[in-house]
Amino acid sequence: MKFSILTLLTFLFGLASANCPNGTTAPMSCPFMPVSPRKGQRSGFAAYQYEGGGPNTPENWAKLDCKNPPYDIFAGCSYCTNECGGRVQSPVDVKPAEATSLSWISGVKFEPSGTAMVKYDMASGSYKMSCMKLGTCGTVSVGNDRYDMLQLHTHQHSEHALNGKLYPTEVHVVHLRGKSELLVVGVFFEVGAENPDLQTVIDAASTLATNSSMNVAGLLGDSINPEYMTLYQGSLTTPPCSEGVRWAVSSKVRTASQKQINMLTMLAGGKTDARPVQPLHDRPFLKL
Ligand SMILES: [Zn+2]
Repeated sequence: MKFSILTLLTFLFGLASANCPNGTTAPMSCPFMPVSPRKGQRSGFAAYQYEGGGPNTPENWAKLDCKNPPYDIFAGCSYCTNECGGRVQSPVDVKPAEATSLSWISGVKFEPSGTAMVKYDMASGSYKMSCMKLGTCGTVSVGNDRYDMLQLHTHQHSEHALNGKLYPTEVHVVHLRGKSELLVVGVFFEVGAENPDLQTVIDAASTLATNSSMNVAGLLGDSINPEYMTLYQGSLTTPPCSEGVRWAVSSKVRTASQKQINMLTMLAGGKTDARPVQPLHDRPFLKL
């Protein structure tokens, strides 16, 4: 696969202004908005949807705009720019065998730790697992860059594919560096043995519990070992699909019981909430 050294350096050291591809920076007054609502009911992006056809489904996301409340307060902020039609989009079909080795860099670590709180998220109408404080439930280090874990959430079915295959569930572990640089770890789940830590999340969500915590390291297991990771440069997977997001997708698939996966689907409203895979264009896959 062809790629430039600039592409490699961009991945390793990040973009100077991750959400500002034209080189501008957001006004200082812009509120922090790292991840947009995923179901769209409250979104300024015209209540985007995943299924059913029509103007708000993924093939038309690039036409949505950010002029409606509550996002109209973000007018002029970089993350209000719709990048869904861009060339650096996520998810993609991940092909680890095509990844270029980055064995010449050291100090890449994925370190989940402690517990995350299971909380209902009003904005997205779904459950998220959030760190009590930024980084208290884990970090990722890439070279000298440290990203602090912010929250975890699930998608039904997976958003990424692995060698052309979609999985029933994908967990996204969202990490933040500075004000807007994101690194998201993607872990697939297939039908198999029950995952007890996932059950904690399901129990909390299905009983409307407000103070449940779950073990992050237990949920992810050895899937976050660097040897399983394929890295690439991508985007948020919901409008405004902001680019400049670093992705690390694990090829070590975890298991959850069929009952657990059914419950997760029910908690997602009984529908899929996964954006289809996007063209890779000329992006390289990288491995550690
Ligand atoms: Zn996600």
